Amino acid sequence: MVGVRVPLVVLIQFGMIHQRLGSTMDKNKKDSDELGMAWGTANNRLRKLVIFSLIQKCGEDNCVRCGQRIVSVDDLSIEHIKPWRGNDVDLFWSVDNIAFSHVQCNTTHRPGGAKFKMAPEGTAWCGRCQDYKSVEMFHKDRARRSGYRGFCKDCT
Ligand SMILES: [Zn+2]
Ligand SMILES: [Zn+2]
Repeated sequence: MVGVRVPLVVLIQFGMIHQRLGSTMDKNKKDSDELGMAWGTANNRLRKLVIFSLIQKCGEDNCVRCGQRIVSVDDLSIEHIKPWRGNDVDLFWSVDNIAFSHVQCNTTHRPGGAKFKMAPEGTAWCGRCQDYKSVEMFHKDRARRSGYRGFCKDCT
């Protein structure tokens, strides 16, 4: 009797797990259909959008490589300043080691022109006005690539 019951229990349990997995997949599939993209892709995109809106608010939305503004989330690349591979795993997790750049600037040796907008001559981007303003409107900031603060004088 025992020999028969044990496999049955296993089968029932297996069936339940299988069913649960199946329903989760169905739910994700439904979400994916509604979102028009894979669930994982949508999740990653949302996370990137949140980061992008935060760095815009902080005025940190300038490319660490070319110093120009990152205008679209599609251009945003989150990169490590010091390479962590074969170096130090802590560098991977260190927030201080994270920088934002254009996808085009991060990926070196990539053919084709840059998609991002260049700041017009004599202007800098204000992250709060969401507009280019004359450099006289900015306090200098040598720590930043652009040489100016992320916000104009009106906004600081
Ligand atoms: Zn750049
Ligand atoms: Zn401003």
